[in-house]
Amino acid sequence: MARYAYVNGRYVDHRDASVHIEDRGYQLADGVYEVVGVRDGRLIDETPHLDRLDRSLRELRIDWPVARPALGFILRELMRRNRLHDGLIYMQVTRGVARRDHAFPTTPVKPALVLTTKNTKHLGADPGPGVAVKSERDIRWERCDIKTIALLPNVLAKQAARESGAYEAWLIDDEGCVTEGASTNAWIVTGNDELVTRQTDNGILAGITRGTLKKIANDLQLKLVERPFTLAEAKKAKEAFITSATSFVTPVVKIDGDKVGDGKVGPTARRLREEYVRFASEGEAVT
Ligand code: PMP
Repeated sequence: MARYAYVNGRYVDHRDASVHIEDRGYQLADGVYEVVGVRDGRLIDETPHLDRLDRSLRELRIDWPVARPALGFILRELMRRNRLHDGLIYMQVTRGVARRDHAFPTTPVKPALVLTTKNTKHLGADPGPGVAVKSERDIRWERCDIKTIALLPNVLAKQAARESGAYEAWLIDDEGCVTEGASTNAWIVTGNDELVTRQTDNGILAGITRGTLKKIANDLQLKLVERPFTLAEAKKAKEAFITSATSFVTPVVKIDGDKVGDGKVGPTARRLREEYVRFASEGEAVT
């Protein structure tokens, strides 16, 4: 089966898909992206993902490459062509192609739009055995709220985690607090059953899964506090977990080799995973 990518107006064979060498995304990381989950042929949280894309574009003064409804059409068409049933859609917008210069191009350039898809296994309500995380210094810039393709600090942190046998890196700021994961948001459950996750500001990405889980926690009448928490507090927590479009709600059972709680998946993370999967099953199927 041919696998398609969408590149600037055309659906092309994934193997032949390419962009210009002077695309500002390629040379300067001057672009933004989104990753939207697909489960059972259903897009998860399409509207908030496109809202966040809109915000990222506005923050960097990049125009929409196509009208927003057209992007909704393109991502559905790519899902259909690739028969994407369970997986991820990657969307990237860069400022476009121009002779290399740090400053924005002075003549108008068309932003470049690329979409690809990836098949993944079907994620179910069972969270599995949980994952280990490794702490790494947060060496990123001061606008982590913008979902830019400039991900080198995240790449290096994730690689360090993987080399130590951990699944994710937890990034630690100068105060010893966990900001977020390299590609996930970070949560803990305290001794008195409070859910804690860092407040959204310029220090972290406002995860779409995080936002949905806030609503779910509220519906379940769980107590949620948005505040910084230290690595030491996380290690003493009852439970910990991460959220993202890719990992849904995934329990964290080890931090830097130390067990969280009894080292097993806890009831709160399990329940939240179940409810998130229920939410992901709503919505209309595309494929
Ligand atoms: N933080 C960072 C740094 C990320 O890259 C991601 C993944 N996009 C997240 C958090 C989680 O965001 P979402 O729930 O929208 O996938």
